[in-house]
Amino acid sequence: MQKLKSSLNTRNMSLKETDPQIFDAIEGEIRREQDKIVLIASENYVSKAVLEAQGSVLTNKYAEGYPGHRYYGGCEFVDIVESLAIQRAKDLFELRSANETVAVDHVNVQVHSGSQANMAAYLSILKPGDRILGMNLNHGGHLTHGSKVNFSGLLFENGYYGVDPDTGHIDYDKLRAIAIGFRPKMIVAGASAYSRTLDFQRFHDIAQEVGAYLLVDIAHIAGLIAAGIHPSPIAYADFVTSSTHKTLRGPRGGMVMCKGAYAKAVDKMVFPGIQGGPLMHIIAAKAVAFKEALTDDFRQYQHNIVNNAKTLCNALIARGYRIISGGTDNHLMLVDLRNKAITGKEADDVLYKVGITVNKNTIPYDDKPPTITSGIRLGTPAVTTRGFSEPEMLEVADIIDNCLTTPSDEHNMEIQRQRVRALCERFPIQQPGATWSEKEL
Ligand SMILES: *Cc1c(COP(=O)(O)O)cnc(C)c1O
Repeated sequence: MQKLKSSLNTRNMSLKETDPQIFDAIEGEIRREQDKIVLIASENYVSKAVLEAQGSVLTNKYAEGYPGHRYYGGCEFVDIVESLAIQRAKDLFELRSANETVAVDHVNVQVHSGSQANMAAYLSILKPGDRILGMNLNHGGHLTHGSKVNFSGLLFENGYYGVDPDTGHIDYDKLRAIAIGFRPKMIVAGASAYSRTLDFQRFHDIAQEVGAYLLVDIAHIAGLIAAGIHPSPIAYADFVTSSTHKTLRGPRGGMVMCKGAYAKAVDKMVFPGIQGGPLMHIIAAKAVAFKEALTDDFRQYQHNIVNNAKTLCNALIARGYRIISGGTDNHLMLVDLRNKAITGKEADDVLYKVGITVNKNTIPYDDKPPTITSGIRLGTPAVTTRGFSEPEMLEVADIIDNCLTTPSDEHNMEIQRQRVRALCERFPIQQPGATWSEKEL
């Protein structure tokens, strides 16, 4: 009796009481997010509403199947949630330009991540052993575009295209020549570290010419596309995959959009093909994020991201930094450190010491291994959410330059640390967790 009572009580106890270790780690993370400047191009801070949906009781529900066609009873509310997520995604990515409207035929919001979005899309129409042509990982592509250590490299035969060594832009003529020689069944467009606008028309034409499907992976630039700042692939691609947590600023997760012809195949490949029950709390959070992304505020936010990236990029160029491709059209840039007597790894470490988080990144034709690298990737989605604008980006550029130029001067490093701290204090992340931890936990 005593035991039963205590176990019942535990269910109503706060996290702080039942699990102080996890509680403290979360508190530590809230502090970390508040006290560091995040320039990791794939990270962002979700809204309170997104976090609330994600932390909801929807996590309790099994809902294998799709709205209206579930294998479990009691799905009336999760059906509302998933239907709204799908409809909002369609509204968000429908292409409305002066001369055409192209609807999104089909969306699957159940994929757990961007990687699983790609897996589901590939396997919906390809067989193991088929050929995929994707962007070289070392030139900015993603692991799931054919890396040997990833399922995409294990299951398929892979070809790679990349950027021109001089311009740093994708060499479309060479891509076409590779496609003609390789005869892929699918061409994958999209990248994790490419700062230039992608030419979807060109990808489409090459795919048509060689009889390949075209998949466009917009994981990084989904927010920019939704806001109409980067051209949309919707009219050109058979499949458009994405993660939902980068510029799109939703929960950690993925989505697949496709032409109607592949709708059934994609849904079947997501479930029962590669996943079991969907994460209904995450799908609710995706729905909330899509609603947020349909607002003018969000469109303005995406413009600010791009302006901030340009400001940071130009300020670094003015200080003698080489940027791969010479600049940026989007939310990120790849800094080539070869003329700066510091490796990517060292730069990453030095910046972390003053409270700036970045990631080391291989640059095209890098002669250093991925554990060292000659570059760092910088992105502005997170700092823009925080409220940074031009003056702060100029200051960040100056801090970065000071750190990378004289990293062993302790006095200098202390000054930079204080500048980071002051910026962070002036721009609180206003993360819901921060207020929850004070009031509710
Ligand atoms: C981040 C990313 C993904 C994978 O997303 P996860 O949710 O981390 O699995 C896929 N493709 C590209 C181009 C990405 O940048």
